[in-house]
Amino acid sequence: MAKSKFEYVREFESHNTCLPNCFIVVRVDGKGFHKFTEAHGFEKPNDRDGLLLMSKAAACVMEEFNDISCAYGQSDEFSFVFNRDTNVYKRRTEKILSVVNSLFTSSYVFFWDKFICRRLKYPPSFDARIVMYPTVKNLRDYMCWRQADAHINNLYNTAFWGLVQKSGHTKQEAEKILCGTVSSEKHEIMFKNCNINYNNECELYKKGTMLVKRLVHKGKGDSYNTVYVPLNCDIINDKFWNENPHILNSDLDTPVCQEINEECQLVFVKTKKICDDSTKKTKEKKNRNPQRRNHVKAETNGVIE
Ligand code: ATP
Ligand code: ATP
Ligand code: MG
Ligand code: MG
Repeated sequence: MAKSKFEYVREFESHNTCLPNCFIVVRVDGKGFHKFTEAHGFEKPNDRDGLLLMSKAAACVMEEFNDISCAYGQSDEFSFVFNRDTNVYKRRTEKILSVVNSLFTSSYVFFWDKFICRRLKYPPSFDARIVMYPTVKNLRDYMCWRQADAHINNLYNTAFWGLVQKSGHTKQEAEKILCGTVSSEKHEIMFKNCNINYNNECELYKKGTMLVKRLVHKGKGDSYNTVYVPLNCDIINDKFWNENPHILNSDLDTPVCQEINEECQLVFVKTKKICDDSTKKTKEKKNRNPQRRNHVKAETNGVIE
């Protein structure tokens, strides 16, 4: 760009960068989604389509940023984990935060019609923060914190809405009944008053969604597609992390998915396919002949392509 006498004002800009060698986490959270979900007729306590739309928007972000190793979502939030050695935008905080947030928000709106049959009444927005975690323990504890939050909120919300929808209580009454109750009492209230066995509730609602990357063979030959697989599993215990070591160690290859559970497969159209078919060729080239070591069975209950 041509220099002008006004150029000096650039000197006023300051750039924060993420500390080296730390995992970078960006968390987006719907602004005023209590009101937004009510205004848009979301099923309470959990609107499945609304949650799938969140996962779709998150998959779009993962598709754009190859250095995101996983993303965890629940309710109106999603957390994106960047590899600790990423050099995306030279690790500039504002760049990473603002682009992730705006791409997530625009994707949520872009795909609204594909997931929700009701009209979008007003533009939703999301807040976003960026946090650096220096150790694997810190990062795993962060993920545990979010999943524990999902569990606590879902337990309360399922009991609350059970009392309102199944036992005919007012919201005020339901709130009073649940006030001060511990987890086991909530289970009992749901079982006795609402005929709900919480253990049988959907894993999507109880556990949230962990989006992980997998490679799938493209027909014959040695080329692969990257797919984003939503897992509704426990991420607090070691099992998940032992099965997915590539999330914490970017030197390890993305696992190849041998088979996809077709029954519950949710294949969504790729964002870029809709916008521009010319991106396809570049992507195919990139995926050809990858050196792949890990082969895992798909433990998936759906794939976001
Ligand atoms: P970065 O991600 O670093 O911002 P960029 O490609 O967006 O990269 P900018 O310096 O922001 O680079 O420049 C914006 C580009 O978009 C320019 O090349 C400009 O010509 C083009 N552009 C923006 N608005 C319009 C418009 N209304 N009509 C035509 N071209 C436009
Ligand atoms: P803030 O702007 O401070 O984040 P908020 O109203 O978004 O305010 P949160 O604490 O983020 O408050 O809670 C999100 C709200 O959105 C909860 O009330 C939750 O019930 C609702 N919500 C989010 N996703 C869904 C969904 N898929 N189905 C039903 N309700 C949902
Ligand atoms: Mg919110
Ligand atoms: Mg929230």
